[in-house]
Amino acid sequence: MAEVVLKDLVKTYPGNESRATDAVSLEVADGEFMVLLGPSGCGKTTLLRMVAGLELPDSGQIVIGDRDVTYLEPRRRNLSMVFQSYAVFPNKSVADNIGFGLRVRGVGADDVRRKVAWAAELLQLTPYLDRYPAKLSGGQRQRVAVARAIVMDADVLLMDEPLSNLDALLRLSFRAELKKLVGELGTTTLYVTHDQVEALSLGDRVAVMREGAVVQCAAPTSVYDEPADTFVGGFLGSPPMNFLTGTVGHDGTALRLDLGGQSVPVPPALASYKGSDLTLGIRPESVTVEEPGTTAIADDTATVRGALQVLEPLGSAVLLTTEVCGQTVKVQAPAAFRTEPSSELRLCIPAGQCRWYDPETGLLLE
Ligand code: ATP
Repeated sequence: MAEVVLKDLVKTYPGNESRATDAVSLEVADGEFMVLLGPSGCGKTTLLRMVAGLELPDSGQIVIGDRDVTYLEPRRRNLSMVFQSYAVFPNKSVADNIGFGLRVRGVGADDVRRKVAWAAELLQLTPYLDRYPAKLSGGQRQRVAVARAIVMDADVLLMDEPLSNLDALLRLSFRAELKKLVGELGTTTLYVTHDQVEALSLGDRVAVMREGAVVQCAAPTSVYDEPADTFVGGFLGSPPMNFLTGTVGHDGTALRLDLGGQSVPVPPALASYKGSDLTLGIRPESVTVEEPGTTAIADDTATVRGALQVLEPLGSAVLLTTEVCGQTVKVQAPAAFRTEPSSELRLCIPAGQCRWYDPETGLLLE
């Protein structure tokens, strides 16, 4: 096992003006499961391929353990990679597929058999060892690809969207299996995905990327609860964080965010924004709908009127789309919530769940 340290990695592809990765620095601790998350084209795969040695950076450094591997050929880096397309050999049995890398490395037949049996057991492939890939399901084929990677005793496991070819149900069950497996192995892992649920569920930490840069790298709960900027808040969550922009004023006793006819309190620490615009971020599940007749609203909870536009029952919850002073606010209400179409709702916004952003930079304000 080993830690992975990426320092200022810059990569530009010929014919492409913008940088695929723009001075990315990242430290993955020994045994850590690090997820690289971001929209298509943000540079996740490029970063992973540079760690693998399949792409060379224009500048920067990659250190695995105590070795600078920046320009080392892939096979000397001691890492294993699982790709989106399972890339199993169709003309080899499951056992031969799993043991392939070991045999290439010159490992003796007995050891290969032992390790193949071990990996097959972990990935529930023992009954299929003699089968050929054509007779396996997509999920089983992907298990073969993972088994082939883990038998190699690599310092680092690299995975590029390994679940994306699986259907939704299989994806869900294999995700849990993968988490258990990697947790047990304790191998340092770099995992690429554009699926935020996968990232939050699997990662010890999640590095959120945008346009070739890591914009936030933290534990899943942190990136979700405290998005470092409006991009991260707007990318994570389904539906994502609500953003309401207004102008900061003063009602004689306290700062208020004037949304145009309605307002919410602004923390005193943001007094420097008085007279300027400010953005409030709040998760749909943090907003509640005040029940008619309720009088006891917590002191630190603001209420605003929201005109209901759409009500979508989702099974486990009801998603409400409302409009507050011309801005959309999504609310995740309990499954049993019902109301008249086009009604006006009183939305409760607890101060502790509010995040504040500079509208120009999009950055989270402390
Ligand atoms: P996806 O999730 O769609 O795979 P990604 O986040 O992994 O995207 P990369 O594949 O790393 O992103 O691509 C980063 C940028 O580099 C993109 O603008 C892409 O168009 C560009 N790019 C990637 N590979 C090449 C290449 N071989 N030649 C030229 N440009 C490339």
